[in-house]
Amino acid sequence: MTNRPSIPQSAIDDVNARTDLVELVDKSSVKLVKSGHEWIGLCPFHSERTPSFTVRPDKGFVHCFGCGAHENAIGYQMRVYGQTFIEAIKDLAWKAGVDLTEYVGRAEKPAHKPKPKIASRADEKDRVSETEKRRKRGHALWQRGLPIADTEAEEYLANYRGIDRALFLHNGVHRFVPDYEFWYRARDAKKSEAIWTGPALLSVMQYIDDRFAACHVTCIDLDQPKGRLKLYAPDDSRELNTKRVMGDPSKAAIRLGKPAFKMVGGEGLETTYSGMMVSGLSGWCSYSLDNLVGACLMDAKGDRHPTDGRRKLPSVVPDMSRPGMVWPRECHERIFLGDGDTKDIYMLKAKLERGCRRAAVEGRVGRIAMSRPGTDFNSMILGAA
Ligand code: ZN
Repeated sequence: MTNRPSIPQSAIDDVNARTDLVELVDKSSVKLVKSGHEWIGLCPFHSERTPSFTVRPDKGFVHCFGCGAHENAIGYQMRVYGQTFIEAIKDLAWKAGVDLTEYVGRAEKPAHKPKPKIASRADEKDRVSETEKRRKRGHALWQRGLPIADTEAEEYLANYRGIDRALFLHNGVHRFVPDYEFWYRARDAKKSEAIWTGPALLSVMQYIDDRFAACHVTCIDLDQPKGRLKLYAPDDSRELNTKRVMGDPSKAAIRLGKPAFKMVGGEGLETTYSGMMVSGLSGWCSYSLDNLVGACLMDAKGDRHPTDGRRKLPSVVPDMSRPGMVWPRECHERIFLGDGDTKDIYMLKAKLERGCRRAAVEGRVGRIAMSRPGTDFNSMILGAA
């Protein structure tokens, strides 16, 4: 984010406008289905099984109703491939036939730092304050949370997910609210509205220096077999993702157990707790697979996808400057949990492999533990109970 070179806003706008967003997203292995003005698919930025991710080619952005990701073409390219602003705009400009060589050449000279334009400095400030606002809202929600003993949250984890109470009742990372409001903005609506109010399990996400990063929210409906709320968009009856993160979750972790020499790490609460129960180890969890393993270097291309020749797997080469979840210093062996029922198992394994390589560069050991094909770690627990 620093040293954004002085590419004129007109050129940036040009690249964004001339990039085919649907094609860009499609090429990044997100399968899209058309629905009215928009295209819908599974969000590449957080883990989900029902699509909350929308592409609006008419408006020039992608938006995820699950994790709040909101990007234009350049932003999407940066995030999904872990590129810098310059790398992303160069790639897209080349495809769109926009000539940027003059600016990019100048910007890459290491001798002097390009002066950020007033406008881009303001953009950056806006972005930071937007994140800070979300973090404060998440903190306010966490602050009003209640102890989870004898609540729907306890029942959800213990009875619906089979998690051992000894693991979660006293680790200090969960709270409960009886009246969480699920906000949703209908397509073409000006404002969001609360479409559901009910019980939710809160989990605190912390940075490695212990500061509050985000509040992770799991909406509960104990009338559902797995206890998770099912919610459908009022305007087009799409199923919505009822897990949310309020704050700034990148680099942060939910500390389910104490730091230890050997630990498990998973992309969600249920998987990680289940992995802890199966292995007897402590564990921390992230909110998404990408944050669990960290970003990749885009210059290193991924392998060809074994079952779909048109696609490439994500690169296994970690970008050490973008680590994702930071593991505790005490942990020397990191075991990355992979759910065997994941739709694209090759993609999952490539990402977990990246996590292992990152561990190796940091002088740690990384390993992958997969649940049986076709099942996730949590069903192993539920099956055994
Ligand atoms: Zn998302």
